[in-house]
Amino acid sequence: EKLSNKIAAGEVVERPASVVKELVENAMDANSSKIRVDVSEGGLSSIRVLDNGEGILPEDRETAFFRHATSKIKTDRDLFRIGTLGFRGEALPSIASVAEVTLKTCAGESEGEKITVKGGQITERITAPPRQGTEIVVRDLFYNTPARLKYMRTVYTELGHISDVVNRMALARPDIAFELWSDDRKMLKTAGHNDLLRVLNEVYGRAVVKEMKYVKASSEDFQVTGYIAAPSEARSNRSYMTTILNGRYIKNPALTKAVQTGYATLLPVGRFPIVCLHITMNPLLVDVNVHPSKMEVRLSKERALQELVSEAVKEVWENTRL
Ligand code: ADP
Ligand code: MG
Repeated sequence: EKLSNKIAAGEVVERPASVVKELVENAMDANSSKIRVDVSEGGLSSIRVLDNGEGILPEDRETAFFRHATSKIKTDRDLFRIGTLGFRGEALPSIASVAEVTLKTCAGESEGEKITVKGGQITERITAPPRQGTEIVVRDLFYNTPARLKYMRTVYTELGHISDVVNRMALARPDIAFELWSDDRKMLKTAGHNDLLRVLNEVYGRAVVKEMKYVKASSEDFQVTGYIAAPSEARSNRSYMTTILNGRYIKNPALTKAVQTGYATLLPVGRFPIVCLHITMNPLLVDVNVHPSKMEVRLSKERALQELVSEAVKEVWENTRL
């Protein structure tokens, strides 16, 4: 049991940024409107995620640390209409097998509690002040997996990955107020006013946002909205292309390609635009259970979506030229 957690940890917890991703996803799944992340030393010494969500009920608190004890899927059929970001029940047990985890949570009328888990075992469970929501602190990541620890890069690199993760979450959910702090330095703060352009402004800065154009297209199956700016010599990077599908950040080469195809005839080859697209589609047409990171998805009608995206992007550039 403990070994299987460690094996799963190898897949789910690659580096500090993966811990941040899983914890923030849980906070989002708990319908939080405010999520604050604090990291120290690139997340290797500590990661704290604080939310104002639903909290965890007393009877679910211990089981949250057991493998596959997700509270989010109740039947097999749920797997085909996943509305939450998490569903595998793997993250918390995996993280707790390679770090010290402290959970403080309070749900509605229930009593607040603080639970500490180390090496996969609960070492403390005491009452805590009744603050609505959840706080999870992860300390000394990979303390018991030296091989993994050795693989970590500099604090600066790990922090960069964490920053990417939180930026994407903020872009995925402009309606949630996000904060990221690194050793008491503010890295990101969004207002949560459901205004994508304002979040883009926080992430990329005014100069980029000034050049951004609105993209919009829809068909029977899909709705696409977002913003795009032409690449410049200074900024041309694949990582500036963000695709959000039903509120989930995804990596989908076909869609990235579709964006490139959209402007290919008008702009230099090998340059990547800065783009953030929100795609909405019927969850039944999406399979997110492809990889433990849940970033890769399989889409039905992928070609049709590709064409829609290409057309929408192309239209923006053509109008710009006029
Ligand atoms: P999953 O997200 O796949 O269900 P996790 O291991 O990430 O599994 O989390 C286990 C369970 O712990 C979740 O199903 C949820 O019930 C609970 N949980 C974890 N974090 C939070 C949070 N921030 N707010 C509310 N519940 C949480
Ligand atoms: Mg989860």
